Amino acid sequence: MSTPATTPAFPAAPAAPPPAWIEIDLAALAGNHARLTRLMRVHNPAAEVAGVVKANGYGLGADLVGPALARAGAPALFVAHLAEGAALRQALAADPYQLQLARPVYVLNGIAEGEADDFLAFDLRPVLNGPDDLDRWTRAGRTRGRPLPAALHIDTGMSRLGFDEAGFAALAADPSRLGGVDIRITMSHLACADDPAHPLNRRQLDRFLAVAAAIGRGRLSLANSSGLFLGPDFHFDLGRPGVALYGINPIPGRANPMAPVVHLKARVLQVRTIDSFESVGYGAAARARPGMRVATLAIGYADGWPWSAAGKGEVMIGGHRAPILGRVSMDLVTVDVSALPPSLIHGGAVAELIGSHRDIDALAEDAGTIGYEILTRLGRRYARRLVTSGQTQVYPIGVPTPQTEVDPAP
Ligand SMILES: *Cc1c(COP(=O)(O)O)cnc(C)c1O
Repeated sequence: MSTPATTPAFPAAPAAPPPAWIEIDLAALAGNHARLTRLMRVHNPAAEVAGVVKANGYGLGADLVGPALARAGAPALFVAHLAEGAALRQALAADPYQLQLARPVYVLNGIAEGEADDFLAFDLRPVLNGPDDLDRWTRAGRTRGRPLPAALHIDTGMSRLGFDEAGFAALAADPSRLGGVDIRITMSHLACADDPAHPLNRRQLDRFLAVAAAIGRGRLSLANSSGLFLGPDFHFDLGRPGVALYGINPIPGRANPMAPVVHLKARVLQVRTIDSFESVGYGAAARARPGMRVATLAIGYADGWPWSAAGKGEVMIGGHRAPILGRVSMDLVTVDVSALPPSLIHGGAVAELIGSHRDIDALAEDAGTIGYEILTRLGRRYARRLVTSGQTQVYPIGVPTPQTEVDPAP
């Protein structure tokens, strides 16, 4: 018999501070939820705002933002996949306030064959996107002896998910087809909500009104983040915002009504003064001049910092702006710190990359993409830290969000 090899006792993680991190302001998140709730309640005092936390909470961690939104009063949470729902259910179960009992979790992409047991084991509800989903959930209910709760999604013009025109017509002709499921939400999704002038918005609204009249069950839900800003006609009973909760502007071209939730920070690894070298970084894409001082930051495209934003924008170090230089490396970005007081620039100094000087929407514009993509690609590699905006937030429902203070960084 051989002796089993002993496992060396490594610590769980380094104790030293991380090289780059995102700060997530849960007070601002709850404030954004409250802001959207107020917007809806002007015309409908019973309206509620759910939280969409798919793609791991838009990259911020569904384990963090899911419970935070539940505490802020979101009556339901939406994920895309079964596995996301299972992870969220575990995070909600670990929440000290145990509010998960009152928080249904809906799976937007529907239910595949063989998934019903997992849906029930994790207390998840499918969004029924077509006759196959309806059939699977009806069968699952029959074996359990009761119709099971679900949302019903009717496509009103996006041609992506939901009962198509023929599928809806069949339901409208014979609503008893829904008799084996317990529909809690009837929903549709807008294709052009961020463009208020687009005629498809009105067409989708008219079709959704027809859906509601023919087969509407439970709460009616049409609007995502931008849809909530199309006016009260689009509100119905339940808002389904995602991106606006996380601080992205839901009304492009106008002032952002949402509070920033995400700050991105990275440390300076090295500082150098250029002597005779003529360029900085890959591709020799940035010109250097003698005497220029360059700081190298511990962040790159593998951290979700967009390669396509090379050479654009600035970072903030100690309240000063430092222009980004040259290409973005996998793990590194270089900035021109020639104009900054030398005492501020040293290994370990903190640079802010996303913050009040440059929000996610501005970065997305420089990178030729949308804020959604920037946001969802952040955070896979970073440490996450909770901060508080310091403002007193009034929560309409639920209990105050606990806060963790971190070391102050510029
Ligand atoms: C992603 C999604 C939302 C949330 O959209 P945002 O634009 O992030 O507010 C709402 N409903 C459905 C069906 C979605 O897929």
